[in-house]
Amino acid sequence: MTRVLVVEDDPQLVRALVINLRARKYGVDAAPDGTTALRIAAARQPDVVLLDLGLPDMDGTDVIKALRGWTRVPIVVLSARRASDEKVAALDAGADDYITKPFSMNELLARLRAAVRRTEDIPLAPETTFVTTEGFTIDLLAKKATRDGHDVRLTPTEWHLMEILVCNPGRLITQKQLLQEVWGASQSDKTNYLRVYMAQLRRKLEADPAHPRYLITEPGMGYRFER
Ligand code: CA
Repeated sequence: MTRVLVVEDDPQLVRALVINLRARKYGVDAAPDGTTALRIAAARQPDVVLLDLGLPDMDGTDVIKALRGWTRVPIVVLSARRASDEKVAALDAGADDYITKPFSMNELLARLRAAVRRTEDIPLAPETTFVTTEGFTIDLLAKKATRDGHDVRLTPTEWHLMEILVCNPGRLITQKQLLQEVWGASQSDKTNYLRVYMAQLRRKLEADPAHPRYLITEPGMGYRFER
């Protein structure tokens, strides 16, 4: 059975989608906001995500980015707005396809089938979901970080940065790459953002933030996660 995660805050639309999808033998989970969506996605591992961009608690694009930190599940975006830059931003963030509201159920079903079909044949590389160091652990799937056995709370932006770094252990990630990935191409010169966020991450995760052991700065170039 193909499992769909429907992320949408309009209860009427959710009801219509659930009825139509279940009638076609899809398994359906529904989330009314981004936070719930990320939790359900990690717990239920859906085969495809149908994602409304206008959510009450976070931008749909940020949901895409958070998902892409650990999964290649196909994401079809539902966009109420016709603004094309929003769709571009969603696709840039890692969405596979989009459909503009109002849409016909048949078109939506066709897009879902196509999105699932595209990924079926691609063998997935083993994905990094859990990273352990002597100092801390990072569970990308459960979005849980611990240091010395205690939970550490990371903000969505901090998670995004950590995902990129820990998925590329030992590799230099340039400032520009990090800024583009986390804040978007228009912010790629805001190296001060990186300094602030990397300092926060070190305060939260490193035993001696002034002399980091894991989150290394390569001056003038970028950052590296050292195991
Ligand atoms: Ca909405």
